[in-house]
Amino acid sequence: MRVYKFGGASVKNAEAFRNVLRILTLLPASEKPVVVVSAMGKTTNALEQMFGQAYRKEDYTQTLQEMQRYHEAVVQELFPAQDHPVYAALQQQFTYLQDTLTAVEPTQFDRQYDQIISVGELLSSLILHHFLCSQGFDNHWLDCREYLRTDDTWREGRLDWDVTQQQIQRDLPAILEKKPIITQGFIGRTADGATTTLGREGSDFSAAIFAYCLEAESLTIWKDVPGLLNADPKLFQDTVRYEEIAYQEAIEMAYYGASVIHPKTVQPLAQKCIPLYVKSFLHPEQPGTVIRNCQHDRIAPSFILKQNQCLLSFHTKDFGFISEQHLSSIFQALSKHRLKINLMQNSAISFSTCVDADAPKVEALKEELTQEFVILYNQPLHLFTIKNYDQASLDRLTTGKEILLEQRSRQTFQFICRPTQNFPH
Ligand code: ASP
Ligand code: MG
Repeated sequence: MRVYKFGGASVKNAEAFRNVLRILTLLPASEKPVVVVSAMGKTTNALEQMFGQAYRKEDYTQTLQEMQRYHEAVVQELFPAQDHPVYAALQQQFTYLQDTLTAVEPTQFDRQYDQIISVGELLSSLILHHFLCSQGFDNHWLDCREYLRTDDTWREGRLDWDVTQQQIQRDLPAILEKKPIITQGFIGRTADGATTTLGREGSDFSAAIFAYCLEAESLTIWKDVPGLLNADPKLFQDTVRYEEIAYQEAIEMAYYGASVIHPKTVQPLAQKCIPLYVKSFLHPEQPGTVIRNCQHDRIAPSFILKQNQCLLSFHTKDFGFISEQHLSSIFQALSKHRLKINLMQNSAISFSTCVDADAPKVEALKEELTQEFVILYNQPLHLFTIKNYDQASLDRLTTGKEILLEQRSRQTFQFICRPTQNFPH
């Protein structure tokens, strides 16, 4: 059994839905995959925008109408018969969305966020389900929230692996005996029945959860790039594709910010030795990249850029050394405000850390620590990482940049600099 994951770009218009069908029919009929789908195109961004507007009591009707029109245009192209049940299914989701937006209250931002942002995947998976059926590709639409159990860490739900595995193993094998499954990425549910999301770009992780729980033969992530590249082609020139790469390499790349795979995706697969294929949905016949247990020689350096970074430094107020006590309060505050450390460096009387410049979180952190430290900060900055660097790759990236902080180990070189406009690098 295989798991397939289709991202937003692979279902962004009617043509893209037809292409998904083409890819699915490349499998022999006896093979019944689990298909995990993201929201169409940039729908999640649009949902975030309209939720923000509703929360601030601004007018969100235009954003909502545009999103509705976008979905309707695709559906009208795929389903010429106006009485097709897909229309009622979508209407139900849009009614829910409208009602939930109207009821948004000025508290509990994160909880309400999840109840609204999750609609994108419900819409896309319903369209895919109905479209495939209409083309004679019988399939079962599954509400993944009945299977993926999380806690109530809103916007970043933490998976209860035991309950999830038990629920998936209880029902899915019998369904898969008969039909392929179409389901959503990105969303789950608490024990109380509230919808949660797994963090932006979390559909890859959802697919890995299904693969892990079902001990799938493989997971394939269908992308608009030919495989796992050594850099994002939108940001860097002369990218190369890795043919085969070890789990650990891929985990590290995702950790440093390579956007091609969500950081939590690889680890569950590695635990069960399930290979992860990254392939182009435009050229499904091409080999792409396989991530699995393997030995390889030194691979081409990979270049990773995290934009919109904030460099914070904490100075003791009395010029005293930074002690473990100081570090402990800094780390506790970072953890409390859910800020992830992207880089850190300690010196005699200050401690510096680079985090995503998420303004509300950074402000809350500063407020918490302002009694204890003099806090300096600098943003927006760029954090570059070169994995498996050599002199040439280092020169290529650092030349002409004003570097504020750098760090290197034997394999990895990282530096923080002011943003430069000259993309691609
Ligand atoms: N639709 C969600 C997002 O855009 C999840 C995903 O696509 O992976 O973040
Ligand atoms: Mg995505």
